[in-house]
Amino acid sequence: MTGTADPVAIARDLIRCPSVTPAEGGALAYLEGRLKAAGFTVHRVTFSEPGADDVENLYARIGTGTPHLMFAGHTDVVPPGDAAAWTHPPFAAEVADGTLFGRGAADMKGAIACKVAAVLDYLAAHGGKPKGSISFLVTGDEEGIAVNGSVKLLQWAAARGEKFDHCILGEPTNPNALGDMIKIGRRGSLNGSLIVTGTQGHVAYPALADNPVRGIVALMGALMAEPLDAGSEHFDPSNLEFTSVDVGNKTVNIIPGEARARFNIRYNDRHTRDGLKALIERRAAAAASRIRWRIEWEPSNADVFLTQPGPFVALVADAIKQVTGREPELSTTGGTSDARFIKDYGPVIEFGLANQTMHKVDERVPTADLVALTAIYRRILDRYFAQPRP
Ligand SMILES: [Zn+2]
Repeated sequence: MTGTADPVAIARDLIRCPSVTPAEGGALAYLEGRLKAAGFTVHRVTFSEPGADDVENLYARIGTGTPHLMFAGHTDVVPPGDAAAWTHPPFAAEVADGTLFGRGAADMKGAIACKVAAVLDYLAAHGGKPKGSISFLVTGDEEGIAVNGSVKLLQWAAARGEKFDHCILGEPTNPNALGDMIKIGRRGSLNGSLIVTGTQGHVAYPALADNPVRGIVALMGALMAEPLDAGSEHFDPSNLEFTSVDVGNKTVNIIPGEARARFNIRYNDRHTRDGLKALIERRAAAAASRIRWRIEWEPSNADVFLTQPGPFVALVADAIKQVTGREPELSTTGGTSDARFIKDYGPVIEFGLANQTMHKVDERVPTADLVALTAIYRRILDRYFAQPRP
């Protein structure tokens, strides 16, 4: 059962648009056509930034009332890699044995197709109008550096007075099977470099030098020794991981003058970014008698956030259970996503397809999953716009 719009056909049309970031590839034009035909007001917005590629984005809305449900996503995809390694060409969107192959099938043209199909079907069943408003916020810059994508598109929409009540981002959230997992938040991410300064000298005369390797080993040991926390109700424990240790010394007879170690911290809602920086610096200072050290923090736009479970999350979880029989886990695991930008404007959760093949050769999705995800989004629309409102 696929309702009035076929999500598999829409997904195939989208995959055939070669929209590798930052190329639009025809994907947004395709969505514009489908949504305009259904009565949406569609805006195509291009953003620029010196030193970055121009990126096209799309915002579409139907209805003027509340509640306002926003579907967010991206049509850009990562490059296919070695196209010859694919069983089916990456932009051919071939279906074999009930499986649709192609770059973006899972991440996340498949989910966008399901959202569009569900919305078209919902509108057809309700005289072409929602009881509130439905919008699509679709960026072409999620897999790239993301400066001309969701951040600016959200600002642009807010400046026009657009305000949503709830948002569903269609990233592939399920580790194994459709229905496994809803993301209700994401950890924050913070990068820094630990730098220890010594005094360069001859390796045979260490008394005349000050080896920064000794100092950086001591400080790294101290920063790795103690957990940052024990986790929280909805989050795993925060974690600091060193990713590189660099001295850059090509010789065998010189004690280097400086040592650097890069690290990344994934942190939960027990910390704020500034509080975390202060904690790390306190721990380094406590371990650093006579070591000359400093930490250079990189700018970060990935703060921790949580969308508290409540009626909306329950509505989505219930729709998933009705269609798949699975009780989705409410999770905050994994990397960052554009939800970190959307959360500044309203509550956002993430639910899409299964994620085993995303970014891989032979990215693919069972067509049955596209049909089931469409049924889930369709059920969400029915419930969302029914009384009583969430
Ligand atoms: Zn994605």
